[in-house]
Amino acid sequence: MSDLTTMSAAQLAKAIADKQASAVEVTTAHLDRIDAVDERVHAFLHVDREGALAAAERVDRGEITGPLAGVPIAVKDVIATKGVPTTAASKILEGWRPPYDATLVERLRAAGMPMLGKTNMDEFAMGSSTEYSAYGPTNNPWDLGRIPGGSGGGSAASLAAYEAPLAIGTDTGGSIRQPGAVTGTVGAKPTYGGTSRYGLIAFSSSLDTPGPCARTVEDAALLHAVIAGHDPRDSTSIDRPVPDVVGAARLGSTGDLTGVKLGVVKEFAGDGSEPGVLSSFHESLEALVKLGAEIVEVSCPHFQYALPAYYLIAPSEASSNLARFDGVRYGLRTGDDGSRSLEEVMSLTREAGFGPEVKRRIILGTYALSSGYYDAYYGQAQKVRTLITRDFEAAFERVDVLVSPTTPFVAFPFGSRTSDPYQMYLADLFTIPTNLYGGPAISVPCGLSEGLPVGFQVMAPTMADDRMYRVAAALESAVGTFTPPAL
Ligand code: GLN
Repeated sequence: MSDLTTMSAAQLAKAIADKQASAVEVTTAHLDRIDAVDERVHAFLHVDREGALAAAERVDRGEITGPLAGVPIAVKDVIATKGVPTTAASKILEGWRPPYDATLVERLRAAGMPMLGKTNMDEFAMGSSTEYSAYGPTNNPWDLGRIPGGSGGGSAASLAAYEAPLAIGTDTGGSIRQPGAVTGTVGAKPTYGGTSRYGLIAFSSSLDTPGPCARTVEDAALLHAVIAGHDPRDSTSIDRPVPDVVGAARLGSTGDLTGVKLGVVKEFAGDGSEPGVLSSFHESLEALVKLGAEIVEVSCPHFQYALPAYYLIAPSEASSNLARFDGVRYGLRTGDDGSRSLEEVMSLTREAGFGPEVKRRIILGTYALSSGYYDAYYGQAQKVRTLITRDFEAAFERVDVLVSPTTPFVAFPFGSRTSDPYQMYLADLFTIPTNLYGGPAISVPCGLSEGLPVGFQVMAPTMADDRMYRVAAALESAVGTFTPPAL
């Protein structure tokens, strides 16, 4: 592994700005690393060597400057990239090359960040292990026999394997934070509406939130600052200044949390978490107290209904959003030999193009939205969503942030949860409440359990993204970062 691939994004940006390394050298080092290890990791579905090097050359010619100019990035394959394959890890979009860039990709390009390629994920971002990718799973660099989390397992694994210094993920119920937790990397879900969804292939539109993945809190904040901010092309985008997340991360890294109140959610205390996860979490709390923070126990009684409410709302929205994949507009078309009706071709295409988890969600969502059951299921879930939001609001009157483990368990072996969907859904027990509320949350590595990484989650009020970066950076300053065994 060359030095360039182990440096943080902040260090790389400085080296490039100071002309100690060129953007082309930095990008080439990462492309070479991908060539060397990705056969084993499978973080990428598509590598864009030419595009990445062309972008790096523009930086080296001095055409683009900025805080992350020349620092390469990996992008989750659910985000539209002009002319570059975008499949959402589904067969139904195989071969699709979008005619436009997502807003956040436009911003990456404008910031001079070479895009290395598109990362693997669970099909349409539905899952918690990347085992539901139609193109085969991604392997966790900490243990190639274990899952890298999901749905954004490819983005997180690309960081842990030193194939990319930064990556983009999307978080609907935990898909940035949970892969971050199980790969020992940092993943931040911004406030809903704080980052643009324009050009993101929709899963659950009222929950989907793109955000940064990195190896350090400061790097995540630097990337957050590049991609966040109002976008008139997204009707739910927030038209307010982006909180100073970079300043907050730097403040936090000084290790002073005097006067900061951390709320520990009572209802999360024992809930099926592995003992090793709980002990890392409690050691982290002690470390934060040493930095001056105060711990307050808070009750959020409706959090226990978050998982069932999410698994009605997200599939309902998905069943509507995925109606557009009909064999006419994009990608795959099956059975169109002139002998069949339009309906038959659509049905054969969807049968062949969608995997089992996606079908399960479409069926569940269609059922929950059907006229006879709408009030009993979807309507009820929306009411629970309001109660969860009130729990958060009440808690934030007493504390600055809420904290919990990110996931109840560390990376599990392949195949151990695919036979029972509910076991897979449990991976997002602690991350889902935040999505239903819409606030920001971050996962930062806090320790190891039996040699595997444990994540610490910090949840903040909406548009107070800076607060979570401060606390996460303080924890990182106390516990350090975690490096997987050499590949
Ligand atoms: N694991 C959750 C699900 O399967 C969350 C996925 C996500 O955040 N995209 O829906």
